Amino acid sequence: MTNNLLKITFNVFEYSVEQLGEIIYQIFETFQVCETLKINKEKGKKFIQEIRKQYLTTIPYHNFYHAFEVFHSLSTFLYTSDQLKNNYTSEEKVALLIAALCHDLKHPGGSNQKEIEKGSDLALIYNDQSVIENYSISQTFLLMKSNEEANIFSEIEKEKQKKIRKWMIQLILATDPEFHREQLQKIRKNKSLSFEHESHRLQVGILILMSSDLGYFTRTMEIQAKWMKNVCEELGFEYSENNKSFVKNKILPMYQLLVKTVPETKPCFKLFQQNFKFKL
Ligand SMILES: [Zn+2]
Repeated sequence: MTNNLLKITFNVFEYSVEQLGEIIYQIFETFQVCETLKINKEKGKKFIQEIRKQYLTTIPYHNFYHAFEVFHSLSTFLYTSDQLKNNYTSEEKVALLIAALCHDLKHPGGSNQKEIEKGSDLALIYNDQSVIENYSISQTFLLMKSNEEANIFSEIEKEKQKKIRKWMIQLILATDPEFHREQLQKIRKNKSLSFEHESHRLQVGILILMSSDLGYFTRTMEIQAKWMKNVCEELGFEYSENNKSFVKNKILPMYQLLVKTVPETKPCFKLFQQNFKFKL
């Protein structure tokens, strides 16, 4: 089952949000999320359901479909690469998967810049610092605190709980586009990147999540076009068929770095290469 699900040809738009919730649970099973967290099926499913309900349905891009797509891309990278599968601990895999799923929770639409310019409540609460990313992390943990039935971290040891939380915070904060270049440079500079060190594994995790957050460029042209249309609608950009320079300057270096760091992820970029004719 998972073999069919964890493919880059998967078309998110063919499913309802309820069906996508069920698929998330099946992917949880593949990575033994409930076993790692020592929780029963019901709690795992309840968590997914509550997360799904927290994503706004009124915004065209940062909704549950986007959350699913990012979760799915990250899961596919993790599933495809033995290097990733064998070197991350069970708790680290959980942190990566849950961070992907919750990274834009309750996203209000638009961007941090817009929130700051408006002087919105969120911008004031988070002092203009990664406003929406901070908000999504905070809402994820508040949801679990206020709803015991959906608190998937309630059964594991305190130390493991702390570590998952620490990883999730760093992973989600790194999805702020303002720091993309900085994050990539940090990884590039590290010539002796090794999976033996926790901080290095986290760096690679950040790269996987960033690549997944912009993973729609690895999909078919038809799916990409839909995402582009939704992004432009939400952010108020002009939709242009000619987005090659954005792909060349922003997306390509990130994917190249991921393939260089984890060569086994290369098959996930087959469609990207076919569509854009860039070398990875
Ligand atoms: Zn996102």
